[in-house]
Formats: sequence, structure tokens, C-alpha cells
Amino acid sequence: MRFCVLGSGSKGNATYVESGETSILIDAGMSGIELQKRLATIGVELSAIDAILVTHEHNDHVQGVGILSRRAKIPVYANPATFSAASKTVNKLFSYNEFETGTPFHCQDLEVHPFSVSHDTQDPVGFRISDGNVSLGYCTDTGKVSRLMLHRLASCQALILESNHDIEMLQNGTYPPYLKQRIRSGQGHLDNIEAATFLQGLAHEKLQHVVLAHLSEENNHPEIALHAAVKALHGNSHCQEAPIRISVASQAYVGELISLSGR
Ligand SMILES: [Zn+2]
Ligand SMILES: [Zn+2]
Repeated sequence: MRFCVLGSGSKGNATYVESGETSILIDAGMSGIELQKRLATIGVELSAIDAILVTHEHNDHVQGVGILSRRAKIPVYANPATFSAASKTVNKLFSYNEFETGTPFHCQDLEVHPFSVSHDTQDPVGFRISDGNVSLGYCTDTGKVSRLMLHRLASCQALILESNHDIEMLQNGTYPPYLKQRIRSGQGHLDNIEAATFLQGLAHEKLQHVVLAHLSEENNHPEIALHAAVKALHGNSHCQEAPIRISVASQAYVGELISLSGR
């Protein structure tokens, strides 16, 4: 399995995942042109995409879903509540494929397990994506961490986890009080310390790579998020023999194309 965060943050999110004959996008929250351009930087053509999975209806996750689906005849997968809430933004789709939150489904070679997260949308989800050999966990846009989330993301070889803001930067920043409150709420976004604690609970000896994602450009710095994650893993016995690589996804740049091995 290989994956690449094409961009992440409040201005747009999309992640590319491929295994065997199957290539998918998790969210498509940028313009169609921008996503096509970003895919091209890793040598992927839009026509190679077999499906778009949607986590929730916020614009930074669905902005390009409709245009890509229509332009390249790509089926879109989401739960009914998300389809309904996103319908105005995404407009007509090449094809709708409804999944039920909590029930695994197949997308060609990939098994996808959608699970509930805590966010201010109709039925927001994270995904565990497996190819029978390795698994990737995707979890952003959640205000808190549940036991279910820990359970679903356990034993993945790679994780894409939200590390949205630094609490002090948010508190002392320029956002209006209602927005600060929304971000900090249980249906908002995880701060760096919450994300690091989440990661600490998920670390295991087969975890190869962690990407910290959905960083706030206004209320976070990549170094602060990275430091919190590294500190949380420091001294973790699982990380001694085969170190876990941690990287930070950017809003502006396409991330590294990461290969996972089923060691
Ligand atoms: Zn978002
Ligand atoms: Zn959101």
C-alpha cells in the first residue's frame, strides 16, 4: 500500500491511497484543477482514481468531490446523512454509493471500515483502510477521542491523525470567541496534546509511519505539533527497535508518497 496526503488544513483536504489495482481519494476538498495538479506531482492521473471516500460535508473536504466525480466518472462513497448534507455543494455525481457508519465495505481490493468521530456535522467518520496485508487509519476533524476510535485504529501500520491547534496559540490568537469555543469543543478539533496522547495510546511495534494532519495555519506550528508527538512516543518501548516515522502534512504542499511494508 502507498499513500500521500495531497494537502491538509482548513482550506482543503485530500489523501491518495493505492494498493494493487485500486486507487482512491479520501476527501476531495480542493478545486478540481488543484487536485488534478497535486495528483500529477506524484505521477497519478485523475482517470486512475477508482473512488472518492467522504468523511463529512464540510467544504474543506467536499469542495472538489462533484467536479472530479463528473469529470472522470468516479464513484463517490459516503453515508446517507453526509450525502444529504453535502448535496448542494457536490451537486450531481457520477454515482452514489452509500455506506453505513460502522459497517465495513469493499472498494475493489480495499476493505474500508468507517467509524464515528465527534464533529459538528451530520454523521462524520474516520476510516480504517486495509488491503489484507497492511492497514492505514485516517482520523481528522474530531473534537474528542473515543474508545471506538482507539479500537478501530489499533494495529494500523500507518496513521493520519489530526493535530489541529496549540491551545495557547488558540487562546491568545485573533479568532472570535465563538470560533475558539467551536474549535475547542468536543465536536471541534483535537489540539496537539490530545493528538499526542491519542498517538501514545495507538503506538505499537508494527506502526511504521504517522502523519500529523489538519494543522491550523493560524493557531499551530508544525514544530510544536511534531514535538508533542515525538515527546509522547519517547520512551515507548514499541518505538525502540523500529522507530516510528512522524511527518506533518501541509496545506500548501503535497506530502511524501509513503510506502508501507507488511513486515
Ligand atoms: Zn476539516
Ligand atoms: Zn470539518
